[in-house]
Amino acid sequence: TAASLLLIIAFPIPPINLREELEPGKSSCASRRHCHKSSSSYHKPPSPYLLSVLRDYEQRHKRCEPLTKSFNRSFFQVSSSPVGANHQPSHVDDDDCSYVVFTRPTNGLGNRMLSMSSAFLYALLTNRVLLVDFGPDMTHLFSEPVPNSTWLFPEDSRFGNRIYGSKVDDFGSLMKNNNNNHTAVLANNSSSFLHVNLGYGYDDYDKLFYSNEVQDGLQKVSWLILKSDQYFVPYLFLMSGFRAKLDRMFPDKETVFHHLGRYLFTPSDQAWGLIARFYDAYLANADERIGLQIRVLDTKASPTALVLKQVLRCAQKEAQILPPLATKQNETATKKLASKKTSYNKAVLVASLSSEFYVELKDMFWKRASASTGSDGEVAVGFHQASHEEVQRSNDGSHNMMAWVDIYLLSLCDVLVTSGWSTFGYVAQGLGGLRPWILQIPDTKYGGGETLWGNACRRAVSMEPCFHFPPSYDGNKVGVRVDGEEGGGSPSVVHCEDVGGGLKLV
Ligand code: GDP
Repeated sequence: TAASLLLIIAFPIPPINLREELEPGKSSCASRRHCHKSSSSYHKPPSPYLLSVLRDYEQRHKRCEPLTKSFNRSFFQVSSSPVGANHQPSHVDDDDCSYVVFTRPTNGLGNRMLSMSSAFLYALLTNRVLLVDFGPDMTHLFSEPVPNSTWLFPEDSRFGNRIYGSKVDDFGSLMKNNNNNHTAVLANNSSSFLHVNLGYGYDDYDKLFYSNEVQDGLQKVSWLILKSDQYFVPYLFLMSGFRAKLDRMFPDKETVFHHLGRYLFTPSDQAWGLIARFYDAYLANADERIGLQIRVLDTKASPTALVLKQVLRCAQKEAQILPPLATKQNETATKKLASKKTSYNKAVLVASLSSEFYVELKDMFWKRASASTGSDGEVAVGFHQASHEEVQRSNDGSHNMMAWVDIYLLSLCDVLVTSGWSTFGYVAQGLGGLRPWILQIPDTKYGGGETLWGNACRRAVSMEPCFHFPPSYDGNKVGVRVDGEEGGGSPSVVHCEDVGGGLKLV
């Protein structure tokens, strides 16, 4: 098709992207040696206001990056036991830097990338700088988002000891221990380091972070040390204090992660080599690329045969992205076709921890002809898998690299089938600018083949990721309303297709 031809020509040297918009004349390929494909981002350009916010951010980031004068002033003025010598507390002025530090979470890459992008948006909204403390298992995956600058929190343990030290208050505990007088607590809090927990399992006090009044108080805390594994962006849209700026930044709400993710996450040279070699060898020449992301959380409850059946039901019958296979009855017709040249080539990238789906699907579509309906010859379907790591591992850099490569390759596909609940799939769809078919992984605990929707999969209403665990709160207990809970929210924030209690932007 013309579209795929364009893609082939454009890859790996695509036209304009966000970096090009930010620095005219310097394509991301030239300046950072990395390129994104020319897919839907070009249908959904960033707003001029978003570009101006990002330009301002880059200035701020460069001024405040680790070990600059401003960084040291901000870090040491508030430290009770300064790491460096001769650091005196100084007054806070407009030039001072404040930060949100994304700290090492325990779960997978998808979760981490989603919460990092949320932290970045929060930094844009509150004039902070985003720094990341990755730990050794993630440092080699990405290029620096701001050219000639670093977003890595210093590795020197003296810095780490300070921010993770027991002297740093926890936001939720501070709220809990102070008789519901939340704003007064923050006003009297002299510390400029605060831990904030916005991850799975956070409590009602942690959730007060989402209150406008509390946000006012947090402005004077220079260092927010964030722990999160959630895509909390949709909730920022429900907060009246942020909404006007967000609406200007993102007139098209479903592009938030698309733009922020593509800005933040550029593959490192090492990752890029793996991505480009695989893409060129197995995907580039196809007429159409299909990404099939199969994420099975409980292999006992979701046996391979059952999941495979569901995948085929989705891909062949519902989404109709894979052809049906010939049966005994139409075998003769297909034999005739077999003498003709293949007319259309589909490359299917299978992303899964296991190799079973890839092996089964490859065999199935090789050993049986596809029941082509036209007279133009058969549709050839090739299956490819970049890695099969078998089990999810933590603290493993090469395992994370494989995950990143799979996510990125999925994002380069033309059509996606993702697994419900999977943040891994959310990142791929967002980077690729694709509304995926969301597959419901069957689970024998809930009746096996029967699904929530009655279908094996359904088309996502937007390319945005889902915020799995948004605040639902006990207003009486915490004594303050969490913003966004009131008044039915906003038409651009809806419940997710795959996670009933979750929220996503449309
Ligand atoms: P989620 O658990 O599906 O929401 O996604 P996460 O990315 O947060 O966690 C899953 C982790 O398991 C990934 O980061 C990988 O380490 C691993 N994993 C799961 N599925 C795949 C896959 O298809 N390919 C690779 N390479 N790793 C995977």
